[in-house]
Amino acid sequence: MMSVEGSVKRIGIVYSSSPRLSSHNHMTKLAIIGIDGATYEIIHPMIEAGELPNIAKILAEGVSGALESEKPPMTPPAWTSMFTGLNPGKHGVFHFIGRDLGSYQHSLKNSGSYIGKDIMSLLSKRGLSVGSLSVPMTYPPFEVHDGYMVSGIPMPLTGDSIAWPPDVCDDMHRILGAGYIADVEYSKYDGDTETSKDDLSLYSELRDELFRLEEQRLAIQTNFLRERPTDFYFTVISVTDRCQHYFWKFQDPNHAGYTEEGAKLYGEVIKDSYRLADKFVGEARAIIGDETPIALVSDHGFGPQYHDFHINTWLEQQGYLVRKQVPYLKWGKLHLGGVLHRLGLGFVEKIIGPLGKIPIYRPRMKKKADASDIDWSQTKAFAALHGICVNLQNREPEGIVSDDDYASTIDEIIIKLRDIKMPDGSVACDGIFKKEEIYSGPRTTEAPDLQFQMAGLSCITKECWGESELFALRKNAPISGQHRFNGIFAISKPGVEAGKVIEGMHIQDTAPTLLYAIEQAVPAWMDGNIRGDIYAEPPEPKWDRSPEPQSDLPASSDTDDAQSQSIEDSLRGLGYLQ
Ligand SMILES: [Zn+2]
Repeated sequence: MMSVEGSVKRIGIVYSSSPRLSSHNHMTKLAIIGIDGATYEIIHPMIEAGELPNIAKILAEGVSGALESEKPPMTPPAWTSMFTGLNPGKHGVFHFIGRDLGSYQHSLKNSGSYIGKDIMSLLSKRGLSVGSLSVPMTYPPFEVHDGYMVSGIPMPLTGDSIAWPPDVCDDMHRILGAGYIADVEYSKYDGDTETSKDDLSLYSELRDELFRLEEQRLAIQTNFLRERPTDFYFTVISVTDRCQHYFWKFQDPNHAGYTEEGAKLYGEVIKDSYRLADKFVGEARAIIGDETPIALVSDHGFGPQYHDFHINTWLEQQGYLVRKQVPYLKWGKLHLGGVLHRLGLGFVEKIIGPLGKIPIYRPRMKKKADASDIDWSQTKAFAALHGICVNLQNREPEGIVSDDDYASTIDEIIIKLRDIKMPDGSVACDGIFKKEEIYSGPRTTEAPDLQFQMAGLSCITKECWGESELFALRKNAPISGQHRFNGIFAISKPGVEAGKVIEGMHIQDTAPTLLYAIEQAVPAWMDGNIRGDIYAEPPEPKWDRSPEPQSDLPASSDTDDAQSQSIEDSLRGLGYLQ
């Protein structure tokens, strides 16, 4: 088990340990501490065992309840729905990546999708100072009033583009004695590949790195809450999400990858991540004070991942997707410079300069299947964003399904999805959703046409190619935990009913409810509801009737291709992209 206290010393963080009032003697009006992937299924037993004292105090003194996540319950759409109060059909974030309509391509989503509609922008516009630390989907960082924003994933893990204003990066460097690193580079921890033997040594390095980076973020939080106090503070702790992805099997005897040796080595890692989250909560409250309204939220819950479902194999078996059979000859592209390099003539490459970029085509045997093998002229449906898209005429570049046949194609796929059986013979799909049933608004067109979930989300679709079996058992693949629908919500502030548990709260209700809780006007355009039942006698809400801000701003990302590639490689290691 790793000692949280010990790791602070090990990395030599420089910050004053004596609490002192901030120079501005500032009163925070609301702090939100997000605990990515936190679930009561782990929190409650730990509290009963006398752990997590700071989280326990908030639940005991405040109002709490399960928070139903977005569909799909993924980090980017879930946090974006949380801080905009909108459904993905309006904020446009359905996944880490978005469909580039009019093509079969995808690109990384960023904050350009929603800026202006989020509570950070909203409160800034009303003159409140805003501090935002490591909230997912806030890259590129955007200007907030009299405060700062340090981006959360997806983002380049280092560099000066990750914070606003830029001097925040220097400040973080000063606090840590080194550059701030936002997250682990996951591409070296290939989370999705099943190997013949689980290499247990790999996990200790990953665990140490996860805790080291989160402890650094705690040092930044402590410093910023003291030195850069703001009216509104929002942070998200990610160590809980990552540990539950990579370490679930070590504490779940029902998981095929569970071993006693693994349990002995890593059985406490997930609990340690919650202990660290509790420390975040405690240290924040020690600075902002117990009377300051504080909310605890998570974007989704967590549970085991027992199976993969090979969606492309299924689409091929059902005749919806047709693929050219590999091996076949294709034209490979090389650059002149690359050829010279391979021939040991790198010096010539330097002399010819830009001419080295001239492409040279040569036939090459293609052996490994991938998406480029799809024969679009015969493909009616394909996998995208954890769902299924129809290859529609006038929408997809090589669409073959007419508008008239769209609805019947979807209905036919749904009937076939309902027939799929898990390896134990049980019905696999326990939720199938057409996009118009779960989203509303102009950006619904960017969603996959159909989504489905299997075996209570313990079976996840995988978009790999050339698998003969529909299902694979997860055993040695490093990622063994996956998201669930129930996250957490809690708010503690004077006036709420202590210890009350509310039911049926949706993640889109978070922003309107928190604005209401601090007597801020709630925008009428938000989709979520105000949960007045946090009070015994709910006061009347104040409404903001101004129209929904337009975020048709260009996605002002300065992410270059190399940066995007490295972000995507890291997300692939986390199992989010294939
Ligand atoms: Zn998450």
